Amino acid sequence: MKVVTLLAAVDETKCNGDKRCQRICPAGAIRVEAGLASVDPERCVACGKCVDVCTEEAVRLNVRPEPRILAVDVAAADPARVEEICRKAHCRPALQICACTGTEAREVAAAILGGAKSPEDLVLMTGIGSGCGIYCMGVVFRLLDAAGVRVPEDPRWHPLSLSLWDVPDELARKYPDYYLDEDRKVLSG
Ligand code: SF4
Ligand code: SF4
Repeated sequence: MKVVTLLAAVDETKCNGDKRCQRICPAGAIRVEAGLASVDPERCVACGKCVDVCTEEAVRLNVRPEPRILAVDVAAADPARVEEICRKAHCRPALQICACTGTEAREVAAAILGGAKSPEDLVLMTGIGSGCGIYCMGVVFRLLDAAGVRVPEDPRWHPLSLSLWDVPDELARKYPDYYLDEDRKVLSG
């Protein structure tokens, strides 16, 4: 869950239309048309990535007139399916997979069951990825994969990143000092 209190805004006098912001926005909220960027307030999750990449200092975050809440009702989703998706993705359902927003694996699974078809959908439905977006997105891809959702190619997202479960058992046993098996057990629950 995330409460969005800020909103990106573009200074048209500074924007050069190079699309750096559009290429990084995890929510598809900022788009460049006719050489000028503009923000969709219904989609902006105030991650600040557009501010970071803009070389012209053309974007800033202002306070929203009304906060926007991004949250999924996990209780409304089929608990057995939520559990199944999480387990298949090697996550405990209550595992906090995003340190920035506190989003749990079961929230993402519930959002997928609620119709999310892409990382972008999940950002908008749960708020995940609206912080640093570094550590959570690999797990997001695992959860989408576990639910059988194929993500279309998009330069904003990297394909499935390697995780603990990609290390062959034989290799984990060969290097016990890395405690890979123990880590797997802790994370899977
Ligand atoms: S990154 Fe900055 S200059 Fe480039 S299109 Fe976006 S707002 Fe305009
Ligand atoms: S703050 Fe984040 S979500 Fe909002 S327009 Fe910028 S990159 Fe997109």
